Amino acid sequence: MNVNQRSSLIREKALQLGFFMCGFSKAGFMEDEARKLDSWLNLNYHGEMSYMANHFEKRVDPTLLVPGAKSVISLAYNYYNPTTQADQQAPKIAKYAYGKDYHKVVRKKLNILFEWIKLTFGAVSGRVFVDSAPVLERDWAKRSGLGWIGKNTLLINPKKGSYFFLAEIILDLKLQYDAPMIDYCGTCTNCIDACPTDAISPNGYFMDGSKCISYLTIELKTAIPESFRDKMGNWMFGCDICQQVCPWNRFSEAHTDENFIPKQELLSMTREEWKDISEPIFETIFEGSPVKRTKYDGLKRNIDFLL
Ligand code: SF4
Ligand code: SF4
Repeated sequence: MNVNQRSSLIREKALQLGFFMCGFSKAGFMEDEARKLDSWLNLNYHGEMSYMANHFEKRVDPTLLVPGAKSVISLAYNYYNPTTQADQQAPKIAKYAYGKDYHKVVRKKLNILFEWIKLTFGAVSGRVFVDSAPVLERDWAKRSGLGWIGKNTLLINPKKGSYFFLAEIILDLKLQYDAPMIDYCGTCTNCIDACPTDAISPNGYFMDGSKCISYLTIELKTAIPESFRDKMGNWMFGCDICQQVCPWNRFSEAHTDENFIPKQELLSMTREEWKDISEPIFETIFEGSPVKRTKYDGLKRNIDFLL
């Protein structure tokens, strides 16, 4: 079987498993990305996410992370849900966190795909990743032709938008590599204009992560600085603004994975109910959810800050 046929079969299998995009790129040192990451870290745009500064060499070269790696398989998994919380005044949760923890859901599919690859193509070694190790996921997805990195710093596909998770299999199998896509942001500045904390740089493509509401509500373990008091846009976990305003998301289609269907309470709770949320209710609503990451105290801190 030649490299072309092998790559087509892998893509076909990935789509069968529910991934809605799959592309391939050659594993190796990422020179431009390494320079950009270095500047980002030097500006301290990672805030308290000290893990971003760890394993710099491995982060910019998957052959150090997975010895013998030849290829990166980039995969995308849809999480778009057109439903919104009923009370428009209620504190908001980013769409990616509506259902079960994607790390588990997507990893399960990745493991199935990788097992199938080993079964089909023989002795292949590698590792699967879903936001789980020092891997520059967006940059690999861009290299694998899944989309371009927009001014909002997210990966965007012209037919699918940006509401999807990224995952990778890094392996020692040679594949047919895809070409990167051109940038279709054009003169649009919607995301830069709409970001309430000015986290996106004036020209786009670069973000001060320490100003992003996702960081402030999820990663930041200390108190949210007072300077953000009126800039949180009512988000209590994550933020979707720079995706909501992106014209390419008019092409987003609803996911079909029952794991990502939100609990009814999550959608129907009112502003007042969120304000008084108790720990047992938090545990019930967010059982198996990525929101558990903040624990009860973290989410309560965010709600109290907003309300
Ligand atoms: S997620 Fe929200 S806060 Fe972060 S860059 Fe986008 S609009 Fe700004
Ligand atoms: S909102 Fe406009 S500028 Fe921002 S990522 Fe989308 S297309 Fe690009």
